[in-house]
Amino acid sequence: MRKLGLLFTLILVLGPYFVYAQADKHVIMVSVDGLRPEFYLSNKWHAPNLKQLKKKGAFAEGVVSVFPSVTFPSHTTMVTGVSPAEHGIYYNAVFSYDSTNGGIYWNFKQIKKKTLWDVARKAGLKTAAIVWPVSAGAPVDYNIPDIGHMGNDVLEKYSYPSDFTATIKKEILGGVDKIDVGDDIAVAKIGAWVIKNAKPNLMTLHMFGLDHIEHANGREGEAVQRGLSKIDSSVGIIWNAVKEAGIEKNTLFLIVGDHGFYDTDISVRPNVILAKEGLIRDINKGDWDARFHTMGGSAFLFVKNNDPKIIGKVRDLFDKLPDNDKKYFRIIDPMKMKQVKADPNAVFALSALNNASFAATEKGDFITQRKKGGVHGHFPDTKEIQTGFIAVGKSVRSNANLKEMRLYDIAPIVLKYLNLSLGKLKGTVPEGLFKGDK
Ligand SMILES: [Zn+2]
Repeated sequence: MRKLGLLFTLILVLGPYFVYAQADKHVIMVSVDGLRPEFYLSNKWHAPNLKQLKKKGAFAEGVVSVFPSVTFPSHTTMVTGVSPAEHGIYYNAVFSYDSTNGGIYWNFKQIKKKTLWDVARKAGLKTAAIVWPVSAGAPVDYNIPDIGHMGNDVLEKYSYPSDFTATIKKEILGGVDKIDVGDDIAVAKIGAWVIKNAKPNLMTLHMFGLDHIEHANGREGEAVQRGLSKIDSSVGIIWNAVKEAGIEKNTLFLIVGDHGFYDTDISVRPNVILAKEGLIRDINKGDWDARFHTMGGSAFLFVKNNDPKIIGKVRDLFDKLPDNDKKYFRIIDPMKMKQVKADPNAVFALSALNNASFAATEKGDFITQRKKGGVHGHFPDTKEIQTGFIAVGKSVRSNANLKEMRLYDIAPIVLKYLNLSLGKLKGTVPEGLFKGDK
C-alpha cells in the first residue's frame, strides 16, 4: 500500500512532465532586432522569405514593445512574459550612480523572474539560446550568449556545450578564428546546425545586423534593404533547417522583433539643463543630484534619494521650457511609468517627438542638429516603434491577420504550444492564431 502510495505520489509529481511535456514539439523563435512590420506587409520592401512565411502562417500588423523600447528589456520580456520592472532588465546598459557607464545587462543571473528556458528545461525539454540578450549562464543545452563588446574570450567562456565554439569555428563557419555574432548569416548557420543536430524543443535566436544599419541610416534607404535581404536569407537558412531536420510538422516557427525604428536628426541633451542649474557637477565622479539616463528615444530621470525638492525643481525646469524646445519630447509622468511597469527607481521619463532623440552629455547646447539616423526607446504607444510578428506551424492558421499584439503575448504563445506554464501572465495568446481558437 505504501509502495503504491509512493508510486501514486511520483505520478502526481512527475506526471506533468511525462504526460504533458511536449518532447515531440519544437519552438524555433527567431528574433530580428529592429524588425518593422512593413518589411513583410509593404510592396516597398523585398523580403521573399518573410513574405512567404507571413502568407503561410499568422502575422501581426504591429507589436507593442515595452518601456523603454530597447533590445535587452524587450528580449527579456519575450522570454519571461513580464515587464521590465518585474524582470529587472530595465535598460540595455545598467544605470550606475557613480559613473556614466554601468556596463550592459548580459548575465542570466540579472533576470529576476523565471524564463521559458527554465520551465522548458525543468520539463526535460532540450533548449538552445543563440546570441540572445542576457543569456550568459542561462539554463540551456546550447548557448552562444550576447555579451556585447566583451570580446571573443568571454564569448567562448560562456558558450556551451564545451566543444560548441570549436565546432562552430571549424565545421559550421569553415575555419574562422573568431565567431562574429554580428554576422546574421553566421548566426543563422549556427542555429541551423543546432536544429539539425540537436532538434531542440525550444530555441531562441537573435540577429542584430539590421538594427545597426537602421541606427546608422534611419528607416529608409538602400542600406536598410541590403540589411533586410541578409536577414531574409538568414531566416530562409533557419526555416530550411527545420524542414531538413524533418520536424516541420511539429514545429512552431516564430519570427519576432524587439522594437521598430524612428528617424532622427535633432539631438536633445536633457543633462545640459540639469548641469546649468548646478544639479550635475561631475558625472564621472558621481557628483550630481539629478541625472538623465538616455537611450535614443527616451531619457529616464534619476534623483539621488528621490529627494522631492529636487524632483519638483527638475519637473519645473522642463515644464517651463519654451514651446519651441518642448515640442521635441513629452513627459512620461510617474503614474504612466508605473502603469507600463518601467524601472521603479527612475522618477519620470522623456519620450522623443518630432525627429528628436536624446544624448547623454551634459555639455554643449540643449538642442542641436545631429547626423540623420534611426533610434528607438520611445514610449511604446509610438507607432514607428512597433515591431513585427509571424508564426508558422501546422497548428497555426494560414494568412491570419492578428492585427495588433504586445510583446507580452510572445511567452504565452510559446508556453501554450509546449504545454508549459510561467504562472499568471499579463499577455494572452492572440485570438485566431492557433487553429480551433476563436
Ligand atoms: Zn534591438
